[in-house]
Amino acid sequence: MKKKIKDFTLNELKEEMENIGEKPFRATQIWEWLYKENVSSFDEMTNLSLPLRTKLNDNYEIGTYNIIKKLESKDGTKKFLFDILDGNAIETVLMEYKFGKSICVSSQVGCKMGCKFCASTGIQFARSLSAGEIVEQILAVQREEKVKISNVVFMGIGEPLDNYDNVLKAVKILNDDKGLNIGARHISISTSGIVPKIRQLADEKWQCTLSISLHATTNEKRSEMMPVNNAYPIEELIDACKYYIEKTGRRISFEYALAKDNNDNLEDAKRLVKLLRGMIAHVNLIPINKIDQGKYTKSTNENIIKFRDYLNENGITATVRRELGADIDAACGQLRRQNLTEPK
Ligand code: SAH
Repeated sequence: MKKKIKDFTLNELKEEMENIGEKPFRATQIWEWLYKENVSSFDEMTNLSLPLRTKLNDNYEIGTYNIIKKLESKDGTKKFLFDILDGNAIETVLMEYKFGKSICVSSQVGCKMGCKFCASTGIQFARSLSAGEIVEQILAVQREEKVKISNVVFMGIGEPLDNYDNVLKAVKILNDDKGLNIGARHISISTSGIVPKIRQLADEKWQCTLSISLHATTNEKRSEMMPVNNAYPIEELIDACKYYIEKTGRRISFEYALAKDNNDNLEDAKRLVKLLRGMIAHVNLIPINKIDQGKYTKSTNENIIKFRDYLNENGITATVRRELGADIDAACGQLRRQNLTEPK
């Protein structure tokens, strides 16, 4: 089987070149073709000798995704369905902000976490993505849209910390200054709360932003919404967050999807203030997006504003996330995987 060339970090690729009898600087040349020029074939790497290009063609694959579908929202958000070359398809979203272009990537083909309000739950888990398969989402969008992406959020399909090694390797590849050069601070990893992995991430040298999908303030309610809470209850999660802040000095972003008559009343806001008191934290309030068969519906605007104001008045900075791409099912929690061999 051919090796995936985008699964190597630059250092690993240097070693690989030496192993196949090439000079390590060839790795840097290939790297620049892949991540600066964003080429789709080894034949375009014209400063490599023909025999080396043949060797690369015979033993490695570049893994360029095909676009099956591209949808554009009224607000400029674009959703891509990529054929990831094994019969599966995943969704990736490109968003425009004042500060630049941001991309929401998937980390797995499906998701095992089973959150009740999330569309990624509905379809069976297939597998995790490799590092190169994660990175190719950014490259494919840049190629198609002729844009430079400045921010990456791991908030698409999948649980990034359930695919820890590949996600971290993807961060390393994205961050490399000889390639895409996306600063770690411009990369957010969002998790449903896998406590040991949060602690492990805290011990790495990375300065990524960590987002925690909290969504509830009592274990009873959170376990009902997110089965992961049975394994790692709120107290353990908050302790791990404190550890992350202590180790990295970075502020944590807490995601809280407001659902009507579920987690949006003043008692919840009060408990949230208590939970987060003293932490460097920011709360991102998301009006929950309804999914098919989902029992949760969006809070009223009035409740959302009340909730936000209560947090802000009590020392917790909170903002309401602007909803992007809802008309093309590209908003939070609406992304899905597809199996291309099944009828659509
Ligand atoms: N597994 C990771 C990342 C993917 S989900 C995680 O759980 O964090 C990205 C964000 O969208 C999470 O905060 C998730 O809880 C939220 N989300 C999922 N479904 C949603 C919905 N229907 N409405 C609003 N936000 C949702």
